[in-house]
Amino acid sequence: MLPETHPLARYSAEFCLEYGIWSKHLQRIASRPLSDEEFEVVLGADFGDSEWRKEPGFRKLKCLYCGKSGLWRPILTTPHPDHPASWRYNRPENFVKLCRSCRVRFKGKLERLGEWVWGGRFWALRAWHEHFCQHPDLTWDKEVYPLWPPEFGGTSWEEGSPAVLHSAARVPERALLPLEERRCQIRSFLGYKTSEILGGAQCLLSC
Ligand SMILES: [Zn+2]
Repeated sequence: MLPETHPLARYSAEFCLEYGIWSKHLQRIASRPLSDEEFEVVLGADFGDSEWRKEPGFRKLKCLYCGKSGLWRPILTTPHPDHPASWRYNRPENFVKLCRSCRVRFKGKLERLGEWVWGGRFWALRAWHEHFCQHPDLTWDKEVYPLWPPEFGGTSWEEGSPAVLHSAARVPERALLPLEERRCQIRSFLGYKTSEILGGAQCLLSC
């Protein structure tokens, strides 16, 4: 157990319950302070689980580019699979929904697609990822900013805020754009010329 003077000692089960965080781990640890690893596990159980995929808003989305049925494809991969902080790679900001064909079509461009879909939220996650690769034991105030260090995001959801307030899974507005508009924007964002046709359908909008 951590000494009371350790900065992480204030992360207690009581805190987790206050924020509505629940996991089976809480049944075991009562109200004693949590170790850094335990705290990560508890955070991951709440903020890093994959249940968001089952939420109707996420489930009903189709392939971002062609509109066919697709799967959520991960963008970044943890360099430290056994590290308890790796739950952040399960965050929705690390996924784009693509069908099988479009996964092949955009091979090598998933990060750019992630930028287009998630904007500041993906940039913030990637900034943490780059640090995590080099410094897996990076610490910050995870009680207030459970997702990633506050310097990696702005203050709003759109800007990638890692605050508790902005931690719930939320479907990005760009994924809800009409299909043709989405295709145009993706082509433009990835730097394809208007005349280039990816996937067969003509771009109907001026983009
Ligand atoms: Zn597709």
